[in-house]
Amino acid sequence: MVHPLDIRKKALENHIPIMQEEGIHFIVQYIQEHSITSILEIGSAVGYSAISFALAHEQVKVTTIERDFDRYQEALMNIQNLNLENRITILYEDALESVIEEKFDLIFIDAAKSQYIKFFEKYKENLNEHGTIITDNLSFHGMVEDPSLTHNRNTRQLVGKIRNYIEFLKNNEEFDTTFYSLGDGISVSIKK
Ligand code: SAH
Ligand code: MG
Repeated sequence: MVHPLDIRKKALENHIPIMQEEGIHFIVQYIQEHSITSILEIGSAVGYSAISFALAHEQVKVTTIERDFDRYQEALMNIQNLNLENRITILYEDALESVIEEKFDLIFIDAAKSQYIKFFEKYKENLNEHGTIITDNLSFHGMVEDPSLTHNRNTRQLVGKIRNYIEFLKNNEEFDTTFYSLGDGISVSIKK
């Protein structure tokens, strides 16, 4: 049987941008402390974070969306190898186009950084009362705090988008957001 740490190792070898361990640890703890049972994840990659969340406790169910076919297939294989297909549903779709009716305790945004506001606005409709939206990569390797680290126009644009998202969260009247400089920078937005 595959171990989540093997999935992690292989993903890192293949330069797949999976969540840093510190961030995973934080969310797993959050799931346990808040007795979260339903999670929607935007951006599965090879399933590493979804699997880690499902293993937080036995009642957790995860729906996760991935638009890249190779990653989707590898995620599916990893989920099946761990016998988690009853608790993790992976959708091969562009999350901006998915139609999801279900409501979740926690939504985790970890996909295209240029679209964070769109993901947030679309998926806040899928939150249970007082649900939480967690977002990853708000530091973007430190470049958000120190833009002089950016080396090309494309990354500078992305940094600008992340800064806009941070402002959007700070000014959002429907949610209370706390920012953590854990892993690659995480926000926790709780619906009032
Ligand atoms: N959460 C994963 C890492 C995700 S990496 C982990 O920590 O293990 C980000 C992933 O989001 C990439 O695989 C990318 O293909 C996917 N992605 C980006 N934009 C997307 C979109 N609009 N819909 C679905 N998946 C998307
Ligand atoms: Mg990430």
